[in-house]
Amino acid sequence: MRKFKTESKRILDLMINSIYTHKEIFLREILSNASDAIDKLYYKSLMENLSFTKDDFQIKIDIDKEKGILKVTDNGIGMTEKELEDNLGVIAKSGSYDFVKNLKEKKDIEIIGQFGVGFYSAFMVSDKVEVLTKAYGSGQAFLWTSKGAEGYEIKSAEKEQHGTDVIMYIKKSVEEENYEEFLSEYRIRELVKKYSDYIKYPIKMDVEKTKKDPEDEKKSIKYKEEETLNTMIPLWKRNKSEIKEEEYNNFYKETFFDFENPLKVIHTSVEGMSVDYNAILFIPSKAPFNYYTKNYEKGIRLYTKGILIMEKCAELLPDYFSFVKGMVDSELTLNISRETIQHNSQLKRIAKSIQKKIKSELLDMMQSDREKYEKFFNEFGLQLKYGMYENWGMNKDEVKDLILFYSLNEEKMISFKEYVEKMKDSQKYIYYAQGKSVDAIKLLPQVEKVREYGYDILCMTEEIDEFAIKVLNEYDKKEFRSVSSGDLGLDEKEKDIESKKDKEILKFIKDSLEDKVVKVRLSASLRTHPVCLASEGDVSIEMEKVFKAMPNSKGITAQKILEINPNHKIYEKIKKLYEEDKEELKDISQILLTQAMLIEGLPIENPAEYSDMVCKRL
Ligand code: ADP
Repeated sequence: MRKFKTESKRILDLMINSIYTHKEIFLREILSNASDAIDKLYYKSLMENLSFTKDDFQIKIDIDKEKGILKVTDNGIGMTEKELEDNLGVIAKSGSYDFVKNLKEKKDIEIIGQFGVGFYSAFMVSDKVEVLTKAYGSGQAFLWTSKGAEGYEIKSAEKEQHGTDVIMYIKKSVEEENYEEFLSEYRIRELVKKYSDYIKYPIKMDVEKTKKDPEDEKKSIKYKEEETLNTMIPLWKRNKSEIKEEEYNNFYKETFFDFENPLKVIHTSVEGMSVDYNAILFIPSKAPFNYYTKNYEKGIRLYTKGILIMEKCAELLPDYFSFVKGMVDSELTLNISRETIQHNSQLKRIAKSIQKKIKSELLDMMQSDREKYEKFFNEFGLQLKYGMYENWGMNKDEVKDLILFYSLNEEKMISFKEYVEKMKDSQKYIYYAQGKSVDAIKLLPQVEKVREYGYDILCMTEEIDEFAIKVLNEYDKKEFRSVSSGDLGLDEKEKDIESKKDKEILKFIKDSLEDKVVKVRLSASLRTHPVCLASEGDVSIEMEKVFKAMPNSKGITAQKILEINPNHKIYEKIKKLYEEDKEELKDISQILLTQAMLIEGLPIENPAEYSDMVCKRL
């Protein structure tokens, strides 16, 4: 496991890179707290057979322009005195408040959500905040008051209904900051639409309207009418094609307290007898600061028929996909309590389906948007590798195709599949090398040995890597083999004996022979002859001879390879000509090919020309 030190770096990153957002987000924070509080009571009601229905719940926004007050009221679960102390006190008590207070720039405020101090954002726009609350089932209400820096007070209070009022005393506008806009009906309506439209409960406000005065047609009278500002349709129930990217992004950031847009949104719905759900799943752009620590809790929000059942249903995600965030809303009635959840077969089927979907989306990304996939892998690849290795490799087959390693031949990250596709016929194993870095690996002598054969090597630079590979053992029936192992399964004959310079010269010869040959290479087996012919592909030299002998041969030919003996004097000559007389080397190339054809017993195309070329040099 990596240690915690990334956290401090992360905070720094956040401070430097967070994108500027207006203080307007305070409203969505307060509204989502209100919605959560109602969820809690609704859930309790379902579990304990209380007589609430969904229609009993609402959130109300009141604006008092004269007093400069914006009030958000919910009839949710409310808080006891202790909960008030624990939930809202802790911010002022812990380091978070100092932290927030000392932020140099306003834009840094966006990271607040990550620290679970959403409520505190009310102080971005308020001089004073009061929370009047009464817990469901309790006889006593309490009032929490704070002006920010100094701390807070709690005292007994009067309140009729259970639930919470958050009363914000909006700051006076100053030159560069308009706070009073948050006392405008129009602006509030706009903000509810923008950030909180899909909140499941009605967000109501008394809106000023005008109508004609029945007594005097020319006059109009102002009156107030309660209006519901949000549509209440959760994003996942809406039609994919009608949702703008920005909506997904806002929704994600608000719900999961991230300040960056998600890397990938997966919006899916599955209908069937045994599984039936809508889901929105997100892959974050960056691993949360505590991702690779014990404190990170995986899970997906679980709803059934629109009702939140569980905040973080861990059973819906395998550990190797623990980075996925999102929500699943099942149309089936899930009879779930925390004790039975592990054995719930419906839930298991949903989990399986989700898992499949995530995997296929990732594979798709790997194919279609490699850059994005590498960004993803950079953040979460380590987790995938753990996934391969944990539980004795129980899930290795699910994960193996998602893993990338750096390839020495390709000089980029590749998958096992891509490695195997490029393996040579003579290559027995998937080679890998371990080291601190790719550069360090390149210098290993064993690496050089394997590369002499042109075989690729995967670089393992993380501690987990070799364990993961050991668990996998093979891919596509090809065993993994460390370059430092005793038996590398190398066949001397296959050795790549060409230096960089050789390759350059051989390419020149190949180019001057045009398509008469597919390749020119140095031979490892020629002892005395200067040249010979080999072939690749389906048609061998012998077969070409047979075809040539047939009356209607249709010109079927072998894909020829010209092999040159590097130990023969002629190769010395070739090297010299390459430096000094390339035109001459072109002719010599033709002569060598013809000789090789003659040795093989193949007819030569233009005997007169060959004869001329040879005579000229005699
Ligand atoms: P978060 O919502 O991330 O937990 P907040 O600072 O927004 O952090 O809120 C802290 C806690 O205060 C919440 O978790 C919740 O328990 C409590 N809380 C906030 N607003 C309400 C509310 N309207 N009704 C009941 N509890 C609330």
